[in-house]
Amino acid sequence: MELQDCINIDQKHIWHPYASITNPPMIYPVERADGVRITLKDGRQLIDGMSSWWAVLHGYNHPVLNQAAQDQLAKMSHIMFGGFTHEPATKLAKTLVDILPQGLDKIFFADSGSVAVEVAMKMAIQYQHAKGETQRYQFATIRSGYHGDTWHAMSVCDPITGMHSLFSKSLPIQYFLPQPSVKFGEVWNDEAIKPLQDLLEKQYQHIAGLILEPIVQGAGGMYFYSPVYLQKAKKLCEQYGVLLIFDEIATGFGRTGKLFAYQHADVIPDIMCLGKALTGGYLTLSATITSQSVAEMICSGEAHCFMHGPTFMGNPLACAIANASIELLLRTDWQHKVKHIEQQLCQGLAIAQTWDCVQEVRVLGAIGVIEMKEPVNMATLQPRFVEQGVWLRPFGKLVYVMPPFIISDDELTALMHGMLQAIKDEYQEK
Ligand SMILES: *Cc1c(COP(=O)(O)O)cnc(C)c1O
Repeated sequence: MELQDCINIDQKHIWHPYASITNPPMIYPVERADGVRITLKDGRQLIDGMSSWWAVLHGYNHPVLNQAAQDQLAKMSHIMFGGFTHEPATKLAKTLVDILPQGLDKIFFADSGSVAVEVAMKMAIQYQHAKGETQRYQFATIRSGYHGDTWHAMSVCDPITGMHSLFSKSLPIQYFLPQPSVKFGEVWNDEAIKPLQDLLEKQYQHIAGLILEPIVQGAGGMYFYSPVYLQKAKKLCEQYGVLLIFDEIATGFGRTGKLFAYQHADVIPDIMCLGKALTGGYLTLSATITSQSVAEMICSGEAHCFMHGPTFMGNPLACAIANASIELLLRTDWQHKVKHIEQQLCQGLAIAQTWDCVQEVRVLGAIGVIEMKEPVNMATLQPRFVEQGVWLRPFGKLVYVMPPFIISDDELTALMHGMLQAIKDEYQEK
């Protein structure tokens, strides 16, 4: 298909994430992607700074992951999970149980991050219901969070950026707390946990669970907060009979410098969600994991089972690739690599801190964030990144970079250079 036909058909018929279809945004047809390089249909090459939204760890078109996919394809791409099981799923379950904290060993495989969050919330409701706490059907969370786009996942996303007013009549009302005021690396101050303490004291009878993205808030704010918040939250949840849910869909598999972000705080939640990088960015797959005691309570309830079962549950192809991706990750010295990316990001992005248009630069693990003072204009900024040969996709005031872990020093240098140059061209030299 010709380049222009591809664009025309797309703009006429296809929705893109959070986009208008009547006034479609600029779109770039991609031909292929290899390692950290994305080749556009017009021949230009871009260095990937997004990891396709937290998902790609080992780069695109990886021979090991390709082989795992081909081997599994030759056996079966999919088989229903009702009444059947298979080695890709059992192997993945075993691997996850081995790398997750002790006690989290009951796994529900679903097909996307949002569904994993829905599953976690349903687990919390079924748990409380079985315990006789039938008035506990609401959730608490912090502002600027992001947990997905389906109904209940959306209900715990930031109410402003999630446009709750638009959906207010059909969206459940949840309890929102301020963002933890103590940032990652700052000295703890007990004031930061007061809002949660106050809420639970007053409303615990209505609250089934507290859902948090541990340490790093992703798509809702790219904000890094103190591990002590999680430690205090865990104590309060225990005290008030509220289940603690960690959404590690963005933070899982090394992105923050630890294999999972809960490890920064050493706090084990009651329920945990994984997704995105689970398959190294190859296919959509997610997992919701809970403990023996929560699972037992759920299954002792009225339904005697957990009430969820997606068609593509435990998809063998996705599980086989996840197995290969996790094996590949654990086989490499990823800690060292992520630390190295972190140092390079710290050094490379620091200059932006001195610019008038920039509010703050922050880095954690393989995540670098430039928070601007004003929201960026995507329509003009994105083409500048592409001109610079880099792929970045800012939102609001946040221009951020989170490359695949396999990026070389030179590629990361070029990526940061393109990022900074585009911002400078757009804002500094007017
Ligand atoms: C992306 C994301 C989700 C939603 O995952 P999808 O696969 O897009 O449905 C949920 N929680 C967090 C923290 C995420 O980053």
